[in-house]
Amino acid sequence: MAPSSQNAMRLSFIGAAKSVTGSRFLLEAGASHVLVDCGLSQERDMASRNWQPFPLPPDRIDDVLLTHAHLDHCGLLPRLVREGFRGRVFATGPTAEIARIVMLDSARLQVEDVEQKKARHEKENRASPHPLLPLYTEKDAEAAAALFQVVTFGKPFPLKGDMEAEFFEAGHIMGSASIRVRAGRGAAARTVLFSGDIGRWDRPIINDPAPCDQADYVLMESTYGDSLHDKDEEIGGILEKIVTSTVRAGGNIVIPSFAIERSQEVLYYLNTLLRENRIPHLLVFLDSPMATKVTDVFGHWPEYFDAEMARLIRENRSPFDLPGLVMARSVDDSKAINRINGSAVIVAGAGMCTGGRIKHHLVRNIARAESTILFVGYQAEGTLGRAIVDGAKQVRILGQTLTVKARVARIEGFSAHADRDELLRWASCLKTRPRQAFVIHGEPQVAEHFRSTLEQKMQWSAMVPSPGQSVELDGILST
Ligand SMILES: [Zn+2]
Repeated sequence: MAPSSQNAMRLSFIGAAKSVTGSRFLLEAGASHVLVDCGLSQERDMASRNWQPFPLPPDRIDDVLLTHAHLDHCGLLPRLVREGFRGRVFATGPTAEIARIVMLDSARLQVEDVEQKKARHEKENRASPHPLLPLYTEKDAEAAAALFQVVTFGKPFPLKGDMEAEFFEAGHIMGSASIRVRAGRGAAARTVLFSGDIGRWDRPIINDPAPCDQADYVLMESTYGDSLHDKDEEIGGILEKIVTSTVRAGGNIVIPSFAIERSQEVLYYLNTLLRENRIPHLLVFLDSPMATKVTDVFGHWPEYFDAEMARLIRENRSPFDLPGLVMARSVDDSKAINRINGSAVIVAGAGMCTGGRIKHHLVRNIARAESTILFVGYQAEGTLGRAIVDGAKQVRILGQTLTVKARVARIEGFSAHADRDELLRWASCLKTRPRQAFVIHGEPQVAEHFRSTLEQKMQWSAMVPSPGQSVELDGILST
């Protein structure tokens, strides 16, 4: 639906509304159409959303603004491009580089998944209810990567019509941003702030969030809007206990990990524990070609590191370079891990166990009482990772039904997402109350909880939009 007047702004919540993945928001002002994020829906029961038509034909979208390179924020871009989008995709330098790796990896996984499903169906002699096709291919991912334009924090730049955008450090993963869009002129001008994923203060590796201080409307993520994280100094202690007890039992420590930031953080903490002699020397496998590539990208953008990390790099002491680390690049390297005697730490993607090499390691370890499956990241509802965390007794992985006997542990403190108090700290950086806040990117009950927290603690007017809902921005004042 078009805005009713030239100055009106319409905002549509296409994804990550009452859910955590699939971030997609369309902002229309006058004749301009801007899409903020174009992410993949990763919850198992929401996968069909990735196939739904876009609310606007992609060739009518002028520009895309990308907050960061996580798959649930950029993973549907190749489909947008395949279906006719020809505008620009604005992102920071690290985001542009990492998003290309993420989109290519996603394309490969989707093509592989389709092949595996076809083979399984053939073996079991059953037909699929849907045509088995990948959502997009590597060619589409490369075409999307070619549309990126690099922007920097704190420098507003023009979009089509009377719009401009500015990126702010979000402190979530390297290059992550909150984005403020200004539309209209003079007294009719309005600003809309898209939080992206909000990070944390005083974390290793990347910079602290540097939030924006003014916006008329705010879309705010709420992934951990109802909880508080473990304290940072506890992470090392918990990890130490898990590693030593699993080694004593003779099992492996299997860590499903996100390739970006989290894998590097896990290596950082393991390195610290090894240096302090708090864990035995053991082999650590980084079985994720994507994590290896992303670790390389980190070296291209030193200005995005915090001061401590920049110092370590200058002194040639990369915290990712620990003794006993094996980067498994090929499939054969990955398979060789299964032949190792004794205990090892295996860090592999995907972080929510939705695909990738982690599935093979789970098949090998999940039914072994002496092994530990250690979760270090958020597990969305409907994913295999969430089922395991929630205590499933049996799981189905790669066509096999397996009994969960391994110890299941989790460390929340690793999170790259702000917890409730950190979200409130971010919100309090706004000098004046926004006209309206929209709580997005959270499971329904968590988003609702954080909405009421914003109303009580900040006296903000806040609502939780539904998927597909559109609001006319100044119009909502009168409703
Ligand atoms: Zn993210």
